[in-house]
Amino acid sequence: MSATPRAPLKSLDDALQQLLASAQPLDATESVPTLQADGRVLAQDAVSALHVPPQDNSSMDGYAVRCADVGTAGVELAVSQRIAAGASGEALQPGTVARIFTGAPIPAGADAVVMQEDCTVLDGQNAAGEARVQVNAQPQPGQWIRRAGEDVSRGAVVLSRGQRLGPAELGLAASIGLDTLRVARRPRVALFSTGDELVMPGEKAPQDMPPGAIYNSNRFFLNSLLRRMGCEVTDFGIVPDQRDATVQALQQAAQAHDLILTSGGVSVGEEDHIKPAVQSLGTLDLWQIAIKPGKPFAHGQIWTAQGQGAAHFIGLPGNPVSSFVTFLVLVRPFLLRLQGVTDIAMKTVAARADFDWPRADKRQEFLRVRRNAQGGLDLFPNQSSGVLTSAVWGDGLVNNPAGRTIASGDTVQYVGFSELLA
Ligand code: AMP
Ligand code: MG
Repeated sequence: MSATPRAPLKSLDDALQQLLASAQPLDATESVPTLQADGRVLAQDAVSALHVPPQDNSSMDGYAVRCADVGTAGVELAVSQRIAAGASGEALQPGTVARIFTGAPIPAGADAVVMQEDCTVLDGQNAAGEARVQVNAQPQPGQWIRRAGEDVSRGAVVLSRGQRLGPAELGLAASIGLDTLRVARRPRVALFSTGDELVMPGEKAPQDMPPGAIYNSNRFFLNSLLRRMGCEVTDFGIVPDQRDATVQALQQAAQAHDLILTSGGVSVGEEDHIKPAVQSLGTLDLWQIAIKPGKPFAHGQIWTAQGQGAAHFIGLPGNPVSSFVTFLVLVRPFLLRLQGVTDIAMKTVAARADFDWPRADKRQEFLRVRRNAQGGLDLFPNQSSGVLTSAVWGDGLVNNPAGRTIASGDTVQYVGFSELLA
């Protein structure tokens, strides 16, 4: 038996660069209702055809006035018109005020709004049958007026191609009248789990699990992660431990998918059916990435049967936390790039470590931590790549460079799961 030579470790930056270089953005786009575009990636700029708000309008319930008519506090003026939101008034007659409500357009000639709390409605009416108010505060020109175009001006690009759409983006698109949006098509991903020890939850009750068997947990978080990234997922379940069946499953999946994602069976030297199967159907690079958790990682292509094009292949490590972390640091940016997202860098922030990490590793580490009430970070005590509890207890990762120890009080780089899982 000859030992497989150890491939040199590849830095995460190099691996990511190589992976992204192979990720051509999908060229197909589709139009979707704005209401259903959450999480999708915009395929063309959204340009406003109008000002938002369209006209100057009141930001208070009160009275629209000409400042020149209110030289001092206490002036009494007639109420010559009433303008509710959705209505449009007439030019304000000098020496009068307009009753006005939040969101209603400011009538021509008015240059301020006095809030109703600063006015007293007087008894009786004037000869024209108009109510009268006393204005108890002298207004400043422009007060309580929201200006036309203050949010968006006509012709402005409010959202850019390559921008990922969330709740605020959808609201802004709607505010310029867009009921549909052109977005990148969803990446189609085929998901496989490998490993003869795996049992699907529901297939066997815990008390009936044979020795050596474990439940397939990776399938569940990978499926969820993929969907959160906007993918359409076909779950092929656990690949049978047979060469022919594997080749057939992979080949079939390559026809209709942009990416085939597997977990398990990519450790160095492992006799695994996935590796030769992919090699027989396309190309495969096995990488040893200098990160912890998550060293082994496979990347390649599977040609389609027609010989036109190929599906991407990514093999993640089997250990659940390795699988989880490599997805976040490598597969996530890859999927964003496929959808044409421009801003894909993982954004870490400086934070204070409230723990010691005395043993430096030669690999870059992603430690599972959580923020505490003192504004620092606590470390989950068991950082083993098999302990998925760490990812549930934690609310994010510390990106610790290779060779670095951490002492309590040190500044470290933190990224929250809320950012990575959005
Ligand atoms: P492997 O990468 O196949 O050598 O697997 C490494 C470790 O991860 C082994 O302990 C496997 O049992 C475990 N593992 C592999 N796939 C899964 C999975 N889908 N769910 C849970 N654990 C897994
Ligand atoms: Mg395995």
